[in-house]
Amino acid sequence: MASSTYDSDPVTLLRAFLATIEDKVIPLTSKGVSSGNKLFGAAILSKAGLVPITVSTNNETASPLLHGEINCIQQFFAQTSFPDMLDASKPSSSQRPNPRDCVFLATHEPCSLCLSGITWSGFDNFFYLFTYEDSRDLFSVPYDIDILQEVFRVPAVPAVGSEKETQREDLDARPLYNRRNKFFTARSFEDLAREIAEKHGEAESKKWEDEIRRIKALYNGLSDTYQESKTSVVGSASFWK
Ligand SMILES: [Zn+2]
Repeated sequence: MASSTYDSDPVTLLRAFLATIEDKVIPLTSKGVSSGNKLFGAAILSKAGLVPITVSTNNETASPLLHGEINCIQQFFAQTSFPDMLDASKPSSSQRPNPRDCVFLATHEPCSLCLSGITWSGFDNFFYLFTYEDSRDLFSVPYDIDILQEVFRVPAVPAVGSEKETQREDLDARPLYNRRNKFFTARSFEDLAREIAEKHGEAESKKWEDEIRRIKALYNGLSDTYQESKTSVVGSASFWK
């Protein structure tokens, strides 16, 4: 399968991702948050033509494991009809694309569960709009960072005579996971904006940074709805709200 569109240009990628989030993920998210689900969403697109194949959002009212990304992966493997990888207006097919021929898009940087889900499913990349710090600071969801730090980050055993404080600082300076590893490459939308600056100059990059900000702002209202619903709506299966 050709992957020319995926490899072509950061502007092409960013334009397709922002449109997918605005036109397909956000309408689903609006429904989800009103029934007590978190506002995290995901989409799987073709590398060949950046055609959205599967779009999904968090469904923690059904199970605490159904994060946006996991729900999207589940749906990708359950669905029986797939759009043409180059042109969505062409007839669909029953042939599921190889995950290697797909782009994985997450509205929020994937948590440890979803990092593993993306890896185990064979996707070799993902892109995200909001960072872990955004999830913690803007959406009151600190658990991505908490779980990676508490469960996965094993402190080194201090060497004899070493300063424990120095060890602590070293640990805090380390990234929470490998954004480039043998399984996948992870890039944020800000990374794409930086690539646009290098390739097309600061003016073009600034235009896209404004566009990223505009799409991010659409999440403000969704967050308010979720924060209200998590106290009033009964029935979320999620323990960490
Ligand atoms: Zn997750």
